[in-house]
Amino acid sequence: MISPIRYYSTNLKTTPIPFSNALLKGLAPDRGLFMPEIIPTISAEEILSFTDKPYHEIAYEVGRKFLKGQIPNKDLKRIVKDAYDYDVPLERADGNKYIMRLDQGPTASFKDFAARMMGRLMQYYMDKENRKLLILTATSGDTGSAIANAFYGLDNIGVVVLFPEKEVTSRQRKQMTTLGKNVQTIALDAKFDDCQALVKEAFADPDLEHLDLSSANSINIGRLIPQIVYYFYAFARLRKGKKNDDVIFSVPSGNFGDMMGGMLAMRMGLPVKRFIIAVNENDEFPHYVNTGEYQKTEPSKNCISSAMNVGHPSNLSRLVALYGGVMDEKGHISKQADMESMRKDIFSVSINDKQTRKTIKKAYERHGVLLEPHGAVGWAGLWKFLDKEGKQHPEDQLYVSLETAHPAKFPEEINKILGFDPELPPSLEGLEGKKEEYDYLENNYKAFKEYLLIKY
Ligand SMILES: *Cc1c(COP(=O)(O)O)cnc(C)c1O
Repeated sequence: MISPIRYYSTNLKTTPIPFSNALLKGLAPDRGLFMPEIIPTISAEEILSFTDKPYHEIAYEVGRKFLKGQIPNKDLKRIVKDAYDYDVPLERADGNKYIMRLDQGPTASFKDFAARMMGRLMQYYMDKENRKLLILTATSGDTGSAIANAFYGLDNIGVVVLFPEKEVTSRQRKQMTTLGKNVQTIALDAKFDDCQALVKEAFADPDLEHLDLSSANSINIGRLIPQIVYYFYAFARLRKGKKNDDVIFSVPSGNFGDMMGGMLAMRMGLPVKRFIIAVNENDEFPHYVNTGEYQKTEPSKNCISSAMNVGHPSNLSRLVALYGGVMDEKGHISKQADMESMRKDIFSVSINDKQTRKTIKKAYERHGVLLEPHGAVGWAGLWKFLDKEGKQHPEDQLYVSLETAHPAKFPEEINKILGFDPELPPSLEGLEGKKEEYDYLENNYKAFKEYLLIKY
């Protein structure tokens, strides 16, 4: 008899529930985030067996550990095969330093990895239970299009995307506003954090319960699990096969879903020596890791790595939980995490815009690698780490820095720095000619609530 893993809330005031319920709820009723009660393990032999497996099979092996008893194996196999039908290039940049390009999905951002699997899992449960859902999501640019794309055209799932008008590029906007059908986009003259706050308030509003709201933000557990997979994939492909084989990852971070995927991979048994968590000028996290004191950046700062302009990363409460602490949704810590072990696992650094631009230039000129602002923050973070403690690691230490979006999503910035427009991947071609449609709302909850009640 398989007993499914249950998912608890980081606020500890909700009874743990199975995966399917946590997936559909998104946020726990006590406003905490769901975390697995047990973190399943993957043995060294299993990891070795991943060496030649295609990406979707690794996704299946990782996914089934968390979803046991929650979905038949054959359905999970079908879902991951359908979701991961694109490349995951590992580009050698310099010696043993690699760039993992997570930008080959349909919206050219790493958010496709999470959104596509979550969307298909939700659809699976909706079909099974004959139910309807309304997905509310706030985006700083990439989530919106990845979610909209993953759910586009489904009959039983509606999607509402809120975005800060001045913080997304025109290409990012067009990726969401030209879809139509079940995808509704709303522009706000506000910051990403404001959009996120409206969405959170809607979830807690009893007057909206009949709408069957669900979140698709990086807080959803259904997005977290798929983000574990590429860490296994990178190691499986690049491992040296020697004793003491391990890897150091550099992760450009905003809301910390990506980082949490990596942390869970490590807890499952992936030999990760260290995580470099690189943020932009929103530096509340490096400060927290170094001092144990947490203070959000309010308001969040505008940097060119716009998808990482997050002043209070939602997933931080998950990280704190992983290290035995409790942080609520407002960032208040009622039980401190084991900071010493956190520091052993994590090196965190803030990279400003000037350094980001310099890194894009240097990576291109010196290593022939084309990065966009987010990936450049990760790559710059890796070099900061090497400056500081590179000497402590062996010559042939493996490093993997994550590139989270395609450079063609940021043509204005790249052109300013390098003097040319990045080539468009097929997924972004033809956007310019499409018709955009979106609504404007004031940045207040009352307006948003009325909008939802009238429209749905
Ligand atoms: C969302 C996003 C990030 C940040 O990822 P988190 O999981 O929120 O830390 C980084 N880069 C790009 C391009 C993104 O879209």
